[in-house]
Amino acid sequence: MTIPKLEFPPFRLPPEAEALREQVRIFLEETLPKVKTEDRFASWTTPCPAFSQALGARGWIGITWPKKYGGGEKSFLERYVVTEELLGHSAPAGSHWLADRQSGPLLLRFGSEEQRQAILPRIARGECYFSIGMSEPDSGSDLASVRTRAEPVPGGFRVNGTKIWTSGAHRSHYCVALVRTSGQHGDRHKGLSQLLIDLQTPGISLRPIINLAGRHDWNEVTFTDCFVPETCLIGNEGDGWLQVTSELAYERSGPERFMQNFYVLRELVRVLGRQPSRRAAAILGRLVARLWTLRQMSVSVAGILEAGKSPAIEGALVKDLGTIYQQDLPEVARVLAESDATTEEDLADFLDIAQLSTLMSPTYTIQGGTTQVLRGIVARGLGLR
Ligand SMILES: Cc1cc2nc3c(=O)[nH]c(=O)nc-3n(C[C@H](O)[C@H](O)[C@H](O)COP(=O)(O)OP(=O)(O)OC[C@H]3O[C@@H](n4cnc5c(N)ncnc54)[C@H](O)[C@@H]3O)c2cc1C
Repeated sequence: MTIPKLEFPPFRLPPEAEALREQVRIFLEETLPKVKTEDRFASWTTPCPAFSQALGARGWIGITWPKKYGGGEKSFLERYVVTEELLGHSAPAGSHWLADRQSGPLLLRFGSEEQRQAILPRIARGECYFSIGMSEPDSGSDLASVRTRAEPVPGGFRVNGTKIWTSGAHRSHYCVALVRTSGQHGDRHKGLSQLLIDLQTPGISLRPIINLAGRHDWNEVTFTDCFVPETCLIGNEGDGWLQVTSELAYERSGPERFMQNFYVLRELVRVLGRQPSRRAAAILGRLVARLWTLRQMSVSVAGILEAGKSPAIEGALVKDLGTIYQQDLPEVARVLAESDATTEEDLADFLDIAQLSTLMSPTYTIQGGTTQVLRGIVARGLGLR
């Protein structure tokens, strides 16, 4: 019997990707708006349409897509570098993030030619924003149990149901909703479809949900007899499960899974001063080593994706380890700063940073698939269950 194994082949970003890094850094130095401290832990959910449009004008949204859809026809590795720099600078990239990472690639792969032409160039210009309508009040990890119904009617579908935790729906133009288009006789993974829904459509109401840190990122989105034209079906009716799961390796393995609170580490280095104690240097060294290991794993996954494979298990592992690191970081850093910060003023500032980061951290191990669910995927992939 062949025992399945994890593959993280060593991988280096190619010179053209590193050359792009320099250009992105210069652009950020010139363009980055002032970022509020509380937004530094939510770079990819902090909206700033003007920043997204400036990035789009440089050709760095939809960077891997064909030129005929407004893309840059560059590699996935160049996209990786742009993403890494945006996170490293806590850039407010929330307006376009989901459209660039997930919904655009979904349309590129499964959307109709009409959908691609109408939407992809607008995303690439940083002008069109998306939200993801997967979870429902009773369906999260068990996504195949979604109950939002899209009943086929002449010319389209009549949608009824509720989505929840829909990040950024209040500032998006569209939602990609996973809906049930036919009954679940036998295999419940069948009969699901994805719809491209214009959030201005009559019959949609949004209720804001405020998180622990006081931010309005989430929404509850309710569809009541909402008519969606048949031209808004993404891919084939009934293929929703296959399509939705194909998004996940991209969603899980990127640097946003271990760099969301990178600012804490940067500030920790600053407050410890140029000559930290041996103990402080050792603790800091461990944090940096963990981060670098995650980064190498994530770059390796990017290399596998670039080669056209789908590293679902490796992606799940990066997210699991990355989000646990992000949850450990603020507390380890706070304790270290309390004993080793060089000035009282630095310490006071740093405690505020650690507090804000701690308030955001419970979300890390839930969004994009919970830790327990990811471990189930890894175990199954290794033939352990
Ligand atoms: C910051 C953030 C942003 C989000 N944005 C979006 C979004 O834009 N769009 C969207 O659709 N959703 C979004 N979500 C929702 C997210 O995908 C769900 O919260 C997540 O999938 C978990 O689902 P749930 O909340 O229903 O928890 P449940 O699935 O009910 O899980 C509850 C607990 O049971 C455990 N559990 C469940 N099943 C298993 C199992 N089989 N084995 C072991 N343990 C299990 C889980 O690990 C968890 O600890 C977001 C969530 C967060 C935190």
